[in-house]
Amino acid sequence: PTGKSELSMERDLEKKIIVVTGGADGIGRECALAYAREGASVAVLDVDGAKAEATAAESGGASIGLVCDVSKGAEVETALKRVLAYYRRIDAVHNNAGIASPSKPLHETSEQEWDDLQRINLKSVYWTTRYAFAALAESKGAILNTASMVGLIGQQNHAAYVATKGAMISLTKAMAADYAVHGIRVNAVCPAGVWTPMLERWCEEQPDPGSIRKYLDDIHLLGACPHGDVIADAAVFLLSNKARFITGCILPVSGGAELG
Ligand code: NAD
Repeated sequence: PTGKSELSMERDLEKKIIVVTGGADGIGRECALAYAREGASVAVLDVDGAKAEATAAESGGASIGLVCDVSKGAEVETALKRVLAYYRRIDAVHNNAGIASPSKPLHETSEQEWDDLQRINLKSVYWTTRYAFAALAESKGAILNTASMVGLIGQQNHAAYVATKGAMISLTKAMAADYAVHGIRVNAVCPAGVWTPMLERWCEEQPDPGSIRKYLDDIHLLGACPHGDVIADAAVFLLSNKARFITGCILPVSGGAELG
């Protein structure tokens, strides 16, 4: 489409087939529901298969939930083959699955913790790209990565996690450059804090969860620490045709948290 009038009658993601990893809960779940509201069918991939199916059922329409550990190449290959067998196309992949690191400096981080973060938060993007590339090239589709503000500005006591998000930001730009010729756009959203099970768990691990909650509410200049809907609205835009000339964009959806 080239003009607003052609788009104005349609929802933003009408008839698109969108894969969301880590879509069973938290930010991924909010995005899956938002994509479906905008007319997409969503394939929810998550290590928790039952919850993935529940999110897909809540999304309605032709959405499906599939169990998939995104850190395992064979599981990603199988899941994406099933998605393609079912829908015959993929218009977008949202790489959202991720884990947080325990609060500690790098030298206290175990090799297992380092490797898990790298495999789940970063290498997963390699696997989904490897197995969805052909379909995305055919649909002239889009990739969206859930990075983090900490990948841009750093964070105390979370070096191993920050490293995965910084790398994801670099990877987004490199993939955008490589895949423009195929018509595939690649962008990232960077949340600061978002109330999800991950952030709830992180608060509970802190010595004083109450003061951390207050801190999280205070740092977002546009208001209290948000829920996933603010990320979902940005994600809908970046995967829609309205963003058809946007690639390599690292978009803070942070309420100005980094500016205070
Ligand atoms: P969450 O823990 O609430 O939900 C993550 C989902 O991913 C869960 O459904 C979980 O089962 C799934 N998952 C975990 N490991 C997986 C794997 N190996 N394979 C497939 N699925 C897997 O987390 P969230 O807060 O919604 O975070 C989503 C993304 O947003 C993550 O990449 C996270 O780093 C990023 N992020 C979150 C915040 C925040 O404040 N919540 C801030 C910045 C960035």
